[in-house]
Amino acid sequence: MVIFLTALLASAKILPQIDREALDLQARAEALQPRTHISQPVRRPAQPIATVRQPAPQPVRQVVAQPVRQPAVRRASAGNPLDLAQITTICRAAGEQDDPAAFIGRLSNAYALSADDRTAIAAGMRERRYALVYASPERLAGEASGSFLSMLGRPSFVAIDEAHCISQWGHDFRPEYRQLGVLRQRFPGVGLHAFTATATARVRSDIRSQLGLADPVELVGSFDRPNLVYRVVPRASLKKQLQDVLSRHRNEAGIVYCPSRREVEALAAWLEGIGVRARPYHAGLEDDARHRNQDAFLNEDVDVIVATVAFGMGIDRSDVRFVVHAGAPQSLEHYQQESGRAGRDGLAAECVLVYSAADFIRWRLMLEKNGELTPARRALLREMERYAASVGCRHARLVRYFGQAYGSQACGACDYCLGELEAVPDAVSIARKVLSCVARVGQRFGASHVANVLCGSDSQQVKARGHERLTTFGLLKDAPVAEVRGYIEQLTAEELLRQTDEAFPVLVLTAQGVALLKNADARADLTLARQRRPARDRPSGRTRADVESWQDVDRELFDRLRALRLQIARDRGVPPYVIFHDTTLRELARLKPRSLEQLESVYGIGARKAEQLGQPFVSAIADFVAGK
Ligand SMILES: [Zn+2]
Repeated sequence: MVIFLTALLASAKILPQIDREALDLQARAEALQPRTHISQPVRRPAQPIATVRQPAPQPVRQVVAQPVRQPAVRRASAGNPLDLAQITTICRAAGEQDDPAAFIGRLSNAYALSADDRTAIAAGMRERRYALVYASPERLAGEASGSFLSMLGRPSFVAIDEAHCISQWGHDFRPEYRQLGVLRQRFPGVGLHAFTATATARVRSDIRSQLGLADPVELVGSFDRPNLVYRVVPRASLKKQLQDVLSRHRNEAGIVYCPSRREVEALAAWLEGIGVRARPYHAGLEDDARHRNQDAFLNEDVDVIVATVAFGMGIDRSDVRFVVHAGAPQSLEHYQQESGRAGRDGLAAECVLVYSAADFIRWRLMLEKNGELTPARRALLREMERYAASVGCRHARLVRYFGQAYGSQACGACDYCLGELEAVPDAVSIARKVLSCVARVGQRFGASHVANVLCGSDSQQVKARGHERLTTFGLLKDAPVAEVRGYIEQLTAEELLRQTDEAFPVLVLTAQGVALLKNADARADLTLARQRRPARDRPSGRTRADVESWQDVDRELFDRLRALRLQIARDRGVPPYVIFHDTTLRELARLKPRSLEQLESVYGIGARKAEQLGQPFVSAIADFVAGK
């Protein structure tokens, strides 16, 4: 459900304040959001302004929210048909969060008001009794809205929220928003402001042209959320993968997004069964149960909410430490929005995407069924797929997707930069083995089966088809099945393989795939990644609990390393945990590694980190030991 809010201020009373605040937006955004990028820093108060704000960072939201939303609520309670309490009650009944803006938008659209109420509101508008009027785009600028616009008189300020809906390249395109273009002609000289949490350069340009804004001022916040650690894993055993994440976040708040209600129910029940305080949330639950579960999460009575994407609108729990997607969303905009519910308090939080190629097939089928599979939607899906299968820094990829520059240095907060993924040395040869196996099974089997054959599984399904006699049987027997599944996903994203759009999708070769089979030089640039395998010389048998304890930890050295971490973090302008977690510092202060090789065997330090950060820590430890 999209929240739409169009506010028209008809009263002069609070205008000076509103105008000042709006014009002050730039300065305040800069103060609150040091990374805010302003593409056109010219301020021309008399000109229309389009403001594109960035997602979750609360500061910007507040700047925007203060002038618009708060007065609305106060005015509404001052003798108008609805007061805040009523609005909140009805919002809840209508299945909305406590967001009057959403409610009134819906209300005016659905004609849920009685005829008497409507008459009273119309009279109030003609008499200019309202400081703020909320309306849906249809009500405001739709075909039958001529009288509505004339009732308004001349507003002094127009704000359009969720403005990306106006663009067909936006992830929530709503044709009704296109009607808002009439506002510019109707009210020339009136400030027109557009707000959105996610907008690529293409969408921003569309917003400008659809609203008829000539040379507007644009404020774009930073899309990067440095405190979020992004990880992507190809789906293998979901429950095991989920347990992995949960083991890092015992008794902490988290959201698990599932594609279907059925999966929500099943996973929530399973989590409760293994002792996690979890509840389900989806639109199919009775209103009572849904609100109860949501409140339990907000009130911290439960830790984990397992939900469909219906969950999240207006959710304000800032200490969410992890968001897991058990299935890919339909666009990076959705992913950014949903995963962005983690770590709003600015502290470290983790976003894990568990995906498989089947997710994208399901989206395509669903969009097609609804007649919504436009080229734009296909492109959005495609970008999501590329993100999932890509090898490289996740932060950089997300930020660049939204049209912003990202430095070349490692973020220290994604699976790639943390050294959890490694580039496979012989990518082309592995790719050719996979492609050849797809050909050998006659392009009639899905990813699991192909992976089983390549790994030399002696499963019933493989034997029943005599596939253990194929020349490709066991070609990748040193790799775990999940790793081979990962290669298949990546080759699909590289368009060397394609998964058919059927209920039981099978793998087929693309023309590019055939070309690579024929000629190994066809894709010399190909890269593939895999989860880093545990090093053989790494001390084994240490559980997380062992690592986390203080036993044998030299507290003095720990404090010294912590100071060093803080200094490095400040130099790099990142939070300290991005350098090393406390757990890792404790382990360093316990094991006192003296060389970079020894460092690599420490919990939480991969080859990449050892190389980038190791020297100062090794030196500090050596100094400490020598000085003792
Ligand atoms: Zn990174």
